[in-house]
Amino acid sequence: MNNEQYYELHKKYSELLPEENIIDCGKGLYEIIDEMLAAIKIYQDANLGTSSLIPTVFNLLEIKYGCLSITYSGGDDIVRRIVDFTEKISYKTCEICGKIGELYCSSKWMKWSDKKTLCNEHAARMLYYTLT
Ligand SMILES: [Zn+2]
Repeated sequence: MNNEQYYELHKKYSELLPEENIIDCGKGLYEIIDEMLAAIKIYQDANLGTSSLIPTVFNLLEIKYGCLSITYSGGDDIVRRIVDFTEKISYKTCEICGKIGELYCSSKWMKWSDKKTLCNEHAARMLYYTLT
């Protein structure tokens, strides 16, 4: 994700993303992250102060083992479900372009190699191997 995209999210969801530069992933995941933050903001604006919901603050959104891994504090059960759902969508989203993808690895020795979720086109371009 480039600085401009991050700044846009930071500006739109300043209460959810108070710190700068905590998103470290490809720009293909921008849309699903934007949708997740929008859903949580709507939910939080409607329910804060009327339930056991604690204000949600995101600490880190990064790629781990080829998929999006999200660390946050606060929230409640609904927020956790939205975050889990977003992580699951990332298992099938190309990190580079946002098209439907699957997990690929950078070498034939898949246990030790770098993993990325990519569409067919980007996997071919980057010479990544399929896991199956
Ligand atoms: Zn792609």
